[in-house]
Order: sequence, then C-alpha cells, then structure tokens
Amino acid sequence: QVVTRFAPSPTGYLHIGGARTALFNWLYARGRGGKFLLRIEDTDRERSTPEATAAILQGLDWLGLDHDGDVISQFEGAKRHAEVAHELLDAGKAYKCFATQDEIAAFRDEARANGTSTMYRSPWRDADASTHPEAPYVVRIKAPLDGVTVIRDQVQGDVTIRNDQLDDMVLLRSDGTPVYMLAVVVDDHDMGVTHVIRGDDHLNNAARQMMIYTAMGWDVPVWAHIPLIHGADGKKLSKRHGALGAQEYQAMGYPAAGMRNYLARLGWSHGDDEFFDDAQAKEWFDFGGIGKSPARFDTKKLENLCGQHFAVMDDAALLQELQAFLQSIGEPALTEAKINDLASAVYCLKDKAKIFPSFLEKAQFILADRPIVPDDKALKNLDMVSRGILKELTPHLQNASWSRDGLEAVTNSFAEDKEIKFGKMAGPLRAALAGRTATPSVFDMMLVLGRDETIARLTDAAE
Ligand code: GLU
Repeated sequence: QVVTRFAPSPTGYLHIGGARTALFNWLYARGRGGKFLLRIEDTDRERSTPEATAAILQGLDWLGLDHDGDVISQFEGAKRHAEVAHELLDAGKAYKCFATQDEIAAFRDEARANGTSTMYRSPWRDADASTHPEAPYVVRIKAPLDGVTVIRDQVQGDVTIRNDQLDDMVLLRSDGTPVYMLAVVVDDHDMGVTHVIRGDDHLNNAARQMMIYTAMGWDVPVWAHIPLIHGADGKKLSKRHGALGAQEYQAMGYPAAGMRNYLARLGWSHGDDEFFDDAQAKEWFDFGGIGKSPARFDTKKLENLCGQHFAVMDDAALLQELQAFLQSIGEPALTEAKINDLASAVYCLKDKAKIFPSFLEKAQFILADRPIVPDDKALKNLDMVSRGILKELTPHLQNASWSRDGLEAVTNSFAEDKEIKFGKMAGPLRAALAGRTATPSVFDMMLVLGRDETIARLTDAAE
C-alpha cells in the first residue's frame, strides 16, 4: 500500500510551495487507494509555534487535503529517535565523539590554512572504548569512506554522490537530543512511508538520510524531489511576489477547487489538460508528469481556472464555501434566510466570477434590504433624467408578465417609444435595484426579486 506524508515545519504559515507539496502527496496516495499522513516537524523548539501549526492545519483544511490518522508530532518521538541512535552505537555503526567545539574549530582553521577539506574527521571513530574519557560526547554515524551513494530520484533521475564527501554526521547532540535528520528517517520508517515527495531543497539531505537507512538495514522510500516554485519573473518565490500563504489566497476569495487545480499544474502536467477536477487529478497524477525546471506562479492562470471551477461548482457547495470565505476574512456568516435567497440566484451570481468577492458584489441586490443605498459609482446613474426614465418605466413593468420574455418585451418597447438605447436604462436600473454597477443582468435581478420588490425599489429610486 502506498503511504505518503506531508511534513511541514511549523515555523510560519502554509506557503504556496508547501501547499503544492501537500497536494502532490495527497494526490499520489488518494489516486492509489493509499494513505496520506501528516507529521509536524516541530523539533526546532525555538522556531516552532502552535500558531504556525494551527495555520498549517487550517490551510490544509481549506484546500480539502484530508489526512489519515492523527497529526504526528515529531518532537514527541524524540525518545524513539534517540533509541535508534543507540542501536547504531551498539552495532558499531555509530560512535561516541568526545571532540570539543574548540578542537573542531581548530581542525577547520588548519584545513583552511592548508587548503584541504574542512570536513571534520573525528579521531574517535576508531578509538577503543577503554580510552573514552568521562566527558560529554555526541553520537556520530560512521559514514562510508569510499564508493558512491546513488539516489534514485523519480524526478531528478539518478543522483550520485561520492561517499568521501559525506561526513560522520551527528545523530545525538551532547545533551542526548536527536538531530532533525535522524528524526525524519526514523519517522518515515516507523510511519511506513513508501513515497516521499518534497522540495528539491531536500535533495542533499537525502544522501545523508540514506546513510541512516543503510546502517539500519531499512528500505529506502521512493523519493521524488520537486523543483521549487518561482515568481512570474523567474526568480525564487518571495514576499516581493505578493501573497505567499495559502490562507491569503483563501482570504482573497479563490475557490479551493480552483486553487487545487492550479497548484496541481504548478510543476506537473498531463498532456494539454489545464482544467480538471479532483477525480481526474487523482487518476492522472504521476511522477512522469513532474517537470525538472521550476514552475512559475501565474496569477492570471489561477484566476482563469477559478472562473471555470465557479461555473461548474455545485450550488450548495459553493454557498457553503462562501460562508467559510466570510469567516476567513472575519465577516459574519450569512443568515439561513439570505443563503436561501442566494440559492435561487447562484446561476447568475457565479457568471464570470473568479473569486468570492466578485460573487458577493453581484449578490448585493439580494443581500441589501430596502431602502437601497447606492454606492458613489451607482449614484452617478441616478441623475434627474434617469430618475425620470425610471418613473415612466415603472407602471409598464407593473403590468408586465413576470417572465424573462415578458420583461424584455416591455422594456424594449418602452425604449423604442422613447427613442432611448437600452444601455441608457441599464445603469439606472442597476442602481435602483442593487445600488451597484457590477450586478447580474437587470432581468435576472427582476426575476429573482419578484414583481413587488422590483416595483418598490424602482419607486424608491425615482423619487
Ligand atoms: N520539514 C521539512 C520542511 O518543512 C520537510 C522535510 C521532508 O519532507 O522530509 O521543509
């Protein structure tokens, strides 16, 4: 069975790169009936915060990337990690190193002066236990001295590292605490992780992690190191490029399905397919489609995909996500009555919408109650002449048959009689019915509002 994991360090929000890594792991597992696990790598006690963990969980929740089992804390496994280091010590695959910081620094200074490698080679590696002093020590792994380590990476291909470039990495610090690199390997092994998909900034770690796998005689997981994400300018994604956190994208109102679709396409492709749903992504996602060069973040493309997802989204799901969006920006939820009103109008509200704020803008004619207070832009469409037109039109509408055809017929013949273009009437009608300029079509609004409410709003505005 396939088991993947997402292993963020809780030192900040869930950034776009992390969200994409989580998505790839989720897709890979979900497409194969496997498990997707979540491990919080909170071993760095100084930099890890509960707020960051909460933000990561919230971001994953928004994106719908559900994990199996409990959230695992890496820090809580420290005892087990240390145990493995002791196993290696007992097996002679690791050793106690009593070198002091000063000795190591002196070694490096001398190496630099001589122009030789600064990689520390401890004299304790082959020392007899009887010569061990009563002094603090670290536990180091015995790195292979010759030959090569080959990482069979699913994206980068075979990556070969000369073993004489690997140092006797520390496994346990002098206070007995395990290092991060050991924790990752032990956790991945104990959690039964079969496939590791992560940023290629971890490729160098893989060679060092491999030493631990080999020393323990454990199976190495399948590794796929994915290229990082760059900004539109081709440079590494940074604050300069604007929003970086998944939560910021939620607060901007992107629908999660569109975001998932877009993130899946960031560095992975399936032929010419751009717009797809989760079921397709799960079926198609594979290592072969992952590109070798950094993907570029393209807001236009994200918006375009979000627009397409709005168009096909189920009405009830859309309204539910709207409530979550409001919550994410600290706005009160809509009442059930308002949601019911919106439900009948979703078809015209989601038209051309790419983000929830534009959906909400269009929904103003439903969300606002009489008297409608026009915003500044809409107010410009309610000058004397326009109000006069509305006043004359109202009785015609009063008697119209309340259907799209009926309303169009009445409005068009009125416009013809008065020799005014429909465009001249649309602005005032939008202002009267919604108090806004960005609205659904005036006929959609009339149909949704019904005859009495429409006439009342027109009468208010004409006064
Ligand atoms: N905790 C690491 C990070 O947030 C990921 C380590 C891994 O996936 O092996 O970058």
